[in-house]
Amino acid sequence: MRLTPRISVLGSTNMDLVAYVAKAPDRGETVTGREFRTIPGGKGANQAIAAARAGGDVTMIGAVGADDFGVRLRGALGESGVDTSRLRTVEGASGTAHIVVDDEGGNAIVVVPGANGTVTGLAPGDAEAIEATDTLLLQLEIPLEGVLTGARTARERGVRTILTPAPAQPLPPELLAATDLLVPNEHEAAALTGRTDPHEAAEALLEQVPELVITLGSVGSLYADRSGTRLTVPAPQVKAVDTTAAGDTFVGALAVALGEGRPMPDALAWASAAAALSVQRPGASASMPARADIDAAVR
Ligand code: ATP
Repeated sequence: MRLTPRISVLGSTNMDLVAYVAKAPDRGETVTGREFRTIPGGKGANQAIAAARAGGDVTMIGAVGADDFGVRLRGALGESGVDTSRLRTVEGASGTAHIVVDDEGGNAIVVVPGANGTVTGLAPGDAEAIEATDTLLLQLEIPLEGVLTGARTARERGVRTILTPAPAQPLPPELLAATDLLVPNEHEAAALTGRTDPHEAAEALLEQVPELVITLGSVGSLYADRSGTRLTVPAPQVKAVDTTAAGDTFVGALAVALGEGRPMPDALAWASAAAALSVQRPGASASMPARADIDAAVR
């Protein structure tokens, strides 16, 4: 019988406030938009939902604000089966991302961290919640002190850490030292290493982490580890309608597959199938595939 992987996520929850316009306004200009949507997001919440849909037993650790968005964010996680008992409600606003999408698919985004900015460490009971899981997923949309505390706690308690280093920023060496598997996209890998060639970036990053996957959008992904394994994983050829959160879907599914003890090549193929399904549907969390859909796609 397959054991259900237990996954904790320490990270952000944001309400995405998306305005769709023909052309984004210049400074001082006002334009009339076509449509407005509020979409639950944030890299932490997206990875949590992706992992839960893929079959993980997932606990979300972080904070929402004491506002309507906070209620909706908690609800969206709960609907996907994510345990939100460790998601705190704090005074003030939830995290928001203010997104303008133009007709060419380009976007401009302002992120206001709100409640996410209060996650500077772990609350009582969070360390035990992390210890009860096999894997901790981390990203960089909460303060670095919070990410570092989570990574160290997981490391001390024998829990695998998977870090998505987004949004790109310089990282303290202690954080990489507490990371088991790093999953940057090619831009983040370049920002961390100064190498634009992902193969070269991978070699440079292996000096700091034992294992990594660099995601390459529609091209696929690249895996490397210190024992000398190098894998290139092509992405399934599909018609993409919305690539938002493809990376988060990839990481959530990868964590589930690895938590089930599958070998890395199988886990990568399964995560790629999940991400390819997500880009064929609009929306971030709404586009994340269920386990049965992923299984059907890899057959
Ligand atoms: P995001 O920031 O939107 O979450 P990302 O930049 O972190 O995404 P990408 O490298 O764009 O991550 O994509 C992650 C993975 O998703 C890729 O490695 C690939 O497997 C899959 N993917 C992305 N775009 C496509 C596409 N157009 N077709 C098929 N698979 C895709």
